[in-house]
Amino acid sequence: MVACRRGRGAELEVLTTIEAMRAARAALPGSVGLVPTMGYLHEGHMSLVRGARADNDHVAVSIFVNPTQFGPNEDFAAYPRDTDRDLALLRDAGVDLVFMPTVEAMYPPGAMTYVDPGPVSQHLEGQFRPGHFRGVATIVLKLFEIVRPTRAYFGRKDAQQLVVIKAMVRDLDVDVEIVPMPTVREPDGLAMSSRNVYLSPDERRAALVLGQALSLAQEMWTRGLRDGDEYRERLRALIEGEPLARIDYVSVADPEALDELDRIQGPALVSLAVRIGRTRLIDNVTLGGRRSRSPTSML
Ligand code: AMP
Repeated sequence: MVACRRGRGAELEVLTTIEAMRAARAALPGSVGLVPTMGYLHEGHMSLVRGARADNDHVAVSIFVNPTQFGPNEDFAAYPRDTDRDLALLRDAGVDLVFMPTVEAMYPPGAMTYVDPGPVSQHLEGQFRPGHFRGVATIVLKLFEIVRPTRAYFGRKDAQQLVVIKAMVRDLDVDVEIVPMPTVREPDGLAMSSRNVYLSPDERRAALVLGQALSLAQEMWTRGLRDGDEYRERLRALIEGEPLARIDYVSVADPEALDELDRIQGPALVSLAVRIGRTRLIDNVTLGGRRSRSPTSML
């Protein structure tokens, strides 16, 4: 029998220590879906929560701004936080458990072991954020060990993160099912992100260039264009037409190995990292194959 699902407005347990989280998890019969987040929740996160609710008897959400995935000059200290609002949203969404540990609990003095995520972590984001995926893989493995979820939900918005985590789960025999979820966008096409709050009104308008570049890639795909350089050049030119945008990368790569493609024969991951003022935004779309469309996107 499926364990009783909690309804909207039901009691939500907030756990701040690893011991309390383990005990609360152990008390839940049936399957648990985990949604790892860094908080400052938006509709993208909530779509993962709804996915987890649909598939599992219980839902756990973690809120942890993980210092080991931020570089020294990145926005760890400034990362937006609003715990009260996050908890209200999660309560309304019928979440059972929220794990909100301190940095000291997750990285006590003397902690020295990290996950080395291998070559897929060196491309794309890895070139601009050295050590980022080492931090991501380490915290995600720790969360899996603490929460012991049946399934874990990740957004395709962070496509390389999904590749890294799927490889880690496969290579380290972690007993969890990874469920990818579609990117949720604002009505004008901007992918939702906690970092969008940093954008001034002019930057918010300039940020639309990412979605426009991905739409161009889709249009080129539909027209039968298959030359990787042509995609990279035309997308770059479009983005460079926006005065507030600075490109970190424009990539057309194999969706699994993340190597750049000369010719697009099978599915291709088109991904972008663009700085708009001081805010770094990423977005992507998969051409060909099942993943080229998401139900919530205009792309
Ligand atoms: P974050 O809090 O940014 O670490 O994101 C937590 C999870 O939410 C990750 O799996 C992200 O990929 C996912 N996520 C973030 N933004 C979106 C979005 N716009 N659509 C779908 N998933 C998202």
